[in-house]
Amino acid sequence: MTPTKNTTPCGAILIRPFIDGVFVDPVDCAAISNINPANGRTIGEIPVGSAADVERAVRSARAAFERGTWSDTSVNSRKTVLLAVASLIEEQSESLAQLDMLEMGMPISNAREEAAIAAGFFRFCAEAMGTLRDHVLPSEASSIVMSAREPLGVIGAITPWNYPLILAAAKIAPAIASGSSIIVKPSEIAPSSALRLAGLLLEAGLPPGIVNVVPGLGTTVGQALALHMDVDKLTFTGSTATGGKLMECAGRSNLKRLTLECGGKSPVIVFADAADLDIVAHHVVQGFCANQGQLCVAGTRLLAHEGIVDQLSTRVVDILSSIRVREPHLSDCSFGPLASHAQLEKVMRYAAVGQEAGARLLAGGRRVLEESGGYYFEPTIFSEVDPTSVIAQEEIFGPILAVTTFSTPEEAIAQANGTPYGLAARLWTRDFEFARNVARKLKSGIVDANITGGGGAGAGFAASSEPRKMSGFGVEGGLEGMLAYTARKSVSFNFA
Ligand code: ADP
Repeated sequence: MTPTKNTTPCGAILIRPFIDGVFVDPVDCAAISNINPANGRTIGEIPVGSAADVERAVRSARAAFERGTWSDTSVNSRKTVLLAVASLIEEQSESLAQLDMLEMGMPISNAREEAAIAAGFFRFCAEAMGTLRDHVLPSEASSIVMSAREPLGVIGAITPWNYPLILAAAKIAPAIASGSSIIVKPSEIAPSSALRLAGLLLEAGLPPGIVNVVPGLGTTVGQALALHMDVDKLTFTGSTATGGKLMECAGRSNLKRLTLECGGKSPVIVFADAADLDIVAHHVVQGFCANQGQLCVAGTRLLAHEGIVDQLSTRVVDILSSIRVREPHLSDCSFGPLASHAQLEKVMRYAAVGQEAGARLLAGGRRVLEESGGYYFEPTIFSEVDPTSVIAQEEIFGPILAVTTFSTPEEAIAQANGTPYGLAARLWTRDFEFARNVARKLKSGIVDANITGGGGAGAGFAASSEPRKMSGFGVEGGLEGMLAYTARKSVSFNFA
């Protein structure tokens, strides 16, 4: 390809690694198409990326960390930068929203909300870092023994495509607040908002090299980051299969610490005494249709008491019939395309598997707006699902709800816990004491009773959680999530 105006020596690659404070050419010119899932058209190219890009980024991050211009600076100075970043994200919310909408199809009204959440992570961490304390321990008069906290050093972050801006912010904010440097590998489906965010961080006053972003594939950039001997911690959000590979990489390289937030198959348990079923039905729909079902905490299993299952399913179907699948740039779009052709094929396959297994299709189940070239699929609900069947067990990452029934609380809890995952669970009952007991028995990092997304609604950014089972491990969110980017050091001074 002949380089033209506005292109790089690599040709048309305009998405480039951000290393040491500047956008640079990738070492390898190979690229894949950047496809708009709303119409299937190519909108540019994304570098495949290489270990050589990662090497440059890790060197930059390490040198910036060791220079101490960020890691050793005062809490107040860091706070000023983090607050400035939050304001810049809000100022740029429209352009950031456009990037995620174009690359992964998020409805524009939802994409605009991403900026407020991303900015919130920086504001929370700016305030929270001032509350971190070292301890002086009781010891002999001739000595002082401290238990100090230090930034971990160089962090690698691998993020998925479902909430590109939010997830980049959720990992960058606590890492840099605690004084570390970070290299982000965004998803190859939607890397642009993370790159734009890196530019805003520099504009806000962050020294070069503290945040680097290397776009590319999982098998190139992701692997190189996971195997790198000078990355102290890797934080990952994505599939369980990839999470497993990253554990192997950590074991094969430098035993880097891992935080893994992997797949989910979250149950929504509705007991017979649940409040207004209209309200519950709205939460159920929101829980599995938000972002076209492409979120790790999506409530994709509805476990309904046998006495109310028909009424509740009817209400869910009614609400689904009012959802119009639309192009994501339209301001009234609440349900857009799936993020990629591969994702569409996967969802269609699961819809077929559900039917073949004898589940009853109550609504949806079809690809729509095919003439647009986009990857649209209707919100879909199956009832009479066998809890052990494929669509009730495997993460689909799309808008398919599997309805099962139970007669006793014990049966509901066993069903809820009866998958390999343990990310989130919701339950609906009017009995608070009962809710508390059920919540204790659910093997899940997040439990919401009579609400969806309760941590965010009630506690802002302060809620921390830790996935169970094959949904991963390691704390994310809140103060504890920030501490996960630091390490304890015991320091003793002897004056005798
Ligand atoms: P999804 O199927 O939702 O895209 P993945 O786990 O495949 O989930 O992807 C999440 C992130 O992990 C992406 O940034 C992707 O590039 C990266 N990734 C995928 N495979 C690997 C791998 N083998 N090593 C490191 N990173 C990977």
